Amino acid sequence: MNLADSSTLASSLITRGYRRVADEKDADLIVLNTCSVREKAESRVFGRLGEIYKYKREKPYMKIAVVRCMAQRLADELIKKVPHVDYVLGTDRLFELPDAIEGIEGTSSVMTAFGHENIDMIEPVKESPYSGFVTISRGCDNFCTYCIVPYVRGKERSHSDDYIVDAVKKMVDEGVVEATLLGQNVNSYKFGDTDFPKLLSRVSKESGIKRLRYMTSHPKDLSKRLVDVMAEDPTIMPHIHLPVQAGSNRVLQKMGRIYTVEHYLKIIEYIKKNLPYVVLTTDIIVGYPTETEEEYEATLKVVSEVQYDSAFMFRYSVRPGTEAAKFIDDVPEEDKIRRLNKLIKMQQKISYDQNQREVNQVRFSLIEGYSKRNPEKMRARTDGNKTVLFEAQGLDEGSIVPVKILAADAFTLHGEIVKPN
Ligand code: SF4
Repeated sequence: MNLADSSTLASSLITRGYRRVADEKDADLIVLNTCSVREKAESRVFGRLGEIYKYKREKPYMKIAVVRCMAQRLADELIKKVPHVDYVLGTDRLFELPDAIEGIEGTSSVMTAFGHENIDMIEPVKESPYSGFVTISRGCDNFCTYCIVPYVRGKERSHSDDYIVDAVKKMVDEGVVEATLLGQNVNSYKFGDTDFPKLLSRVSKESGIKRLRYMTSHPKDLSKRLVDVMAEDPTIMPHIHLPVQAGSNRVLQKMGRIYTVEHYLKIIEYIKKNLPYVVLTTDIIVGYPTETEEEYEATLKVVSEVQYDSAFMFRYSVRPGTEAAKFIDDVPEEDKIRRLNKLIKMQQKISYDQNQREVNQVRFSLIEGYSKRNPEKMRARTDGNKTVLFEAQGLDEGSIVPVKILAADAFTLHGEIVKPN
């Protein structure tokens, strides 16, 4: 979503006469599009602001803008902490940056009030000439206790289904073959009578796109109908990212996740039963306030039962402004680190095993370019969203080719191009 917002902001600046430069030292305006989800992301922004101060000392007319979630969370405080920042524009206001720079009436250098965003301003974005993102909804109404998103991104609101279908159609006309529908919780998408399964099906059938993905899902809203739609439609890629977060009902309740482990596992069972090939990925937090050893072990049990293809795994850290910041962060740091390391080790073994099931299979894969480490090989993304490397040169980026998987480690598949049957 950040990438999508950055591109939309860049095009609105370009429309007003700005142009991109290749090197930041040549820029008269530097925009930092920020994330508040983890403390590390914010520390890096402060680090970058320190680094780019040297340009501003040489060119005092240069402007620096901090936009989106961190701007939303810190507002005036950010300028107090870093006085060389000129503009602080929150999540509903970042697209007003050109107006703020031009000093248009009603704008100011710090703008964070909600209720100003016109969702139609959030335009689809091409990540490359052959793949694109379409934001279908913004914000979140769930208020998981550890998460800053609902506070910085506001209430959930959705684009119309017609808008989304047209946006994907337009991308297809421009050569895009793979589109990803984006939202904080795509499964709760609702516009009139259209819910997410209906939307996904419409986009697939009416836009002419070859490969369709979506992210991210919330287990309380992922319906059997969505799985049925995926099962019937080969255009929808067989990858589901379904964050479990924890394996104990008490911890899930403390996290405000609104589902039980039993409910989660039932959905997984339905997915596996109805999608003969599916790649499952997840997010997990260990060391949540009050999490006991037994509750942590319950998370490992879920991981072992589901057999995820991969996972984003974190140890809990306090985010100021969230409900969880009021809890006592009582799991010692060394226990959090131990729990995380054990989980990572376990998941890596499972990822390796899951990737072995790919060996000898043919996966239709979208060519993305060359391997960074080995330019002799080309890199592509399988239907299940896994990276595959294969010996080839000069094939067109954006073409979809059948690749037979010959070997795999925990992170990457290795294969060769075969002739389609
Ligand atoms: S569903 Fe929960 S974790 Fe996801 S964005 Fe909303 S509040 Fe945050």
